[in-house]
Amino acid sequence: MTNSGAELVVGGGGSASVKENYDRLVVGPGSESAGFWEINMKRIGMVLAVALAFSLAGNGRPVASPGEVNGVRLQSAEMDGEWLSVGQGYSEQRSSPLKMIDTGNVGQLSLAWSYQFDTDRGQEATPVEIDGTLYTSTAWSKVFAFDATTGALKWSYDPKVDGAKGFDACCDVVNRGVAVWKGRVFVGALDGRLIALDAKTGRVAWSVQTTDTSRPYSITGAPRVVKGKVLIGNSGAEYGVRGYISAYNAANGRLVWRFYTTPNPEGKPDGAASDAVLASKAAPTWFDGEWKRSGGGGTVWDGMAYDPELDIAYFGVGNGGPHNYLLRSGGKGDNLFLSSILALKPDTGEYVWHYQTTPGDAWDYTATQPLMLANLNLDGKPRKVLMQAPKNGFFYVIDRATGKLISAKPIVPINWATSVDMATGRPIENPKARYYRASAGEPPFLQSPGPAGVHNWHPMAYNAETGLVYIPAQVGWFAFIPEAKFTYRPGAWNMGLDYPAGMAASGNRSLMPREIGMPANQLVAWDPVTQTARWRLTQPLGPSAGVLTTAGRLVFQGSDDGDLSAYDAADGRKLWTTPTGNGVIAAPMTYAINGQQYVAVLVGAGGGGQMVSVGRQKVRLPGRLLVFKLGGTARLPKLDIPEPAAPLDLNGVVSGGDSARGRALFQVNCYMCHGLAASGPWVANIKRSPMLLTEDAWRSVVIDGALSSRGMASLSRYLSPRDAEDVRAYVLSLERAEAARGKVP
Ligand code: CA
Repeated sequence: MTNSGAELVVGGGGSASVKENYDRLVVGPGSESAGFWEINMKRIGMVLAVALAFSLAGNGRPVASPGEVNGVRLQSAEMDGEWLSVGQGYSEQRSSPLKMIDTGNVGQLSLAWSYQFDTDRGQEATPVEIDGTLYTSTAWSKVFAFDATTGALKWSYDPKVDGAKGFDACCDVVNRGVAVWKGRVFVGALDGRLIALDAKTGRVAWSVQTTDTSRPYSITGAPRVVKGKVLIGNSGAEYGVRGYISAYNAANGRLVWRFYTTPNPEGKPDGAASDAVLASKAAPTWFDGEWKRSGGGGTVWDGMAYDPELDIAYFGVGNGGPHNYLLRSGGKGDNLFLSSILALKPDTGEYVWHYQTTPGDAWDYTATQPLMLANLNLDGKPRKVLMQAPKNGFFYVIDRATGKLISAKPIVPINWATSVDMATGRPIENPKARYYRASAGEPPFLQSPGPAGVHNWHPMAYNAETGLVYIPAQVGWFAFIPEAKFTYRPGAWNMGLDYPAGMAASGNRSLMPREIGMPANQLVAWDPVTQTARWRLTQPLGPSAGVLTTAGRLVFQGSDDGDLSAYDAADGRKLWTTPTGNGVIAAPMTYAINGQQYVAVLVGAGGGGQMVSVGRQKVRLPGRLLVFKLGGTARLPKLDIPEPAAPLDLNGVVSGGDSARGRALFQVNCYMCHGLAASGPWVANIKRSPMLLTEDAWRSVVIDGALSSRGMASLSRYLSPRDAEDVRAYVLSLERAEAARGKVP
C-alpha cells in the first residue's frame, strides 16, 4: 500500500507536501480582461444602483430597531452590503457590493482585530454582521458575539455538547454558522438541538431536540430563517439515518412542518409534509435493501436558498446510506430524493419540484452543496436560475421556478459520466462507474471524482459584475470497492464499501486515469452562461477553502497552508496574501461600519477528509477569528506551537493481541478519524499516546471511554476488550515499523 498516494485521493493533501502558490491558467486566449469589461459595461446600471444603495447604508441608513433582522431586510441584504445570513442573504451569492477595498488598495489590507477560540477542531462557519455586532459559531456548536469594530467579546454561549457525540460526526465536530432573526440568534448543535439565543445577551430563549437521539444524527449546517420559520436539516447518512428538513416557529420553537427525503422504511405515512410526494414519486424508486434498516440517508446538511418572489425555498439533499447501491436498494431505482435539489413552499413544506443530480447514487455524490440563486441573461432572455456545483462534478443551471434543467457541464475532468442528457436531465454514466463490476474480477476502476467530490460544502461565490461563479474545486479519483462481507452495525460507519482497500487501489499508478490529470485543488472562475472556465488557479491537492467575492473586483480565499489571499476577480492574479498561522477551510465574509470595510474569516484546520493534514504546522492549533481592514494595525498574538508528540519508548512494551485481526478491526472502527495507518494528527496521534503503553490504559480509553469528553467515545458497543487489545497490537506494530523505517540510513 502506498500511503501517500492513497492519502492524496481523499483530500488529505499528503502530510509531507509543502503547498505552492496557485498556478494561474487563463482559459481562452485573451478572453479574461476583454470579457470582464464587456460584461461590466452591460451591468453598469446595476453597479451604479448597488453603489448608491451602499452609500446610503454606509452613511448611517436609519435602522428602526438595531439587531432586528426581518424578511424585508434579509431580502435587500445583498444590495445593501449587509451580511445577515451565512450565505449573505437569501440568494446565497456571497457577493458583496462593498468596494472600499478594491484591486487598487487591497495590498494595504491588514489585521484590525482577532480572537482566539477555545477549540483546535475545524472551523467552517461564515460569520454574520448585524448593526455593529458580529456573530459566529465555532466547532462544538459554540456561539460568539463581538463588537464588529473593536473585536470586544459581547457574549459567548456553549451548548455543552457531550464530547462522545464526536463519534457520530463523519467530518469533524464542525459548525457552519448561525442564523439571525428578530433579536434572536439560532444555532444547530452537533447533538441535534436547535437553540434560539437572545441576540443581545446570548441567553437561551428556547431549545428543541430536532432528532431522534437513539440514532446517530448530528447537525453541522447553518439554519436559515424564512417567514418566521427556522429551517434546519441534519447529517449522519454514513452511519444510518433517514434525512429530513424541519421548519420551527422562530418565536417559540414549535415544529411547523417536516419533509422527509426518503420513504418511511415501514411503508407507512409519517404525518409529514412529504407524505403525498413520497408515496407518488419516491417510493416507486426504492427496492428491497439495507435502506430499510439504515433509513436510506438523504440528509440535508448544508445548502439552502430562498426566492421571496416565487416564495420557494430550496434544499440540497445528500447521498445514500449505505453508499453501496447494490446493498442499499438491490442496485435498482433512482432512490428519490437522494442527491437531489428539492423546492418546497416555506410555509407548509409542500413539494414544488425536484431535480436529481445523481440517480441511484453509489458514490457519496451528495447534492447538498451550496445552492445559489441568480438572474442570468440566457439567449437574450432574463432567467431566474438556481446554480449548484454538487460533488458529482457537473455545474448545473436550473430554472428555479420549474426545476427544468437549463445546462450542465463538468467543471474539471471527470470520468464517472460523460455529460448530462438535456432531454431527460440524467447523467450519461460510464458503465464502469457501477463499481460492483469490479467484484466480478475486473480491475478496480479509478473513478473521478471520489467520495470527496469535485466540490464539497466549501462556499462558492457569484460576482454579477464579472458574471463568474468562483468555485473551490478539486480533481481526484477513488476506487470504489464493495465490502466483501457487509454487516449492518447500528450507529457505526455503514457504507458497504471497503474504503481502506479503495484508498490502497487508488494509489496504484498503473490504474491512474490519465485523462483526469494529477490530483489538485482548483479555484475555478466559471461562466454559468457559457458553461466554461474563464480562468483557473491550481495547486497540489489539499483541503479546500470557501470563497468570497466583492464589487471591489476581488475574490478572497484561504488555504490549507494558512494563507488568506485576494485575487483579481477578472483574471485570477494574486494581489494580496497574508499568513494566518493555521489552516483555513471556511469562507471569508465582509461588512462595513461607518464607511470602513472589514473582511472576516475563521481560521482552523479540520473538517472532512483532513485526517492526515492540519496544514503546514502539522499540529492542531486553536481556531481564531481574524478581521482585516485597510491600514489595520493589530498584531496577531503569537501562538506557542507545540512540538509534535515524541516517539514513545516501546522497549518492553508488549501486547498479547493479534495484530492482523487488529488491523481489520482498525479499518472498520477507527480509520475514519485516525487515518488509514493511524497517521492522522487531526485527532490525537494514537501511535504516540502514552495510553498505548499498557493494556489497562488503552482499555480505559477504547472501552471505558476515559476521553469521551474530547470526542473519543467508548467503542464498547462495537469492540470487546479482546478486540481492543488486538487493535492495540496493530497500532504498536505500526509505530514500531515507523521507528524501524526511521533507523534506515
Ligand atoms: Ca456523505
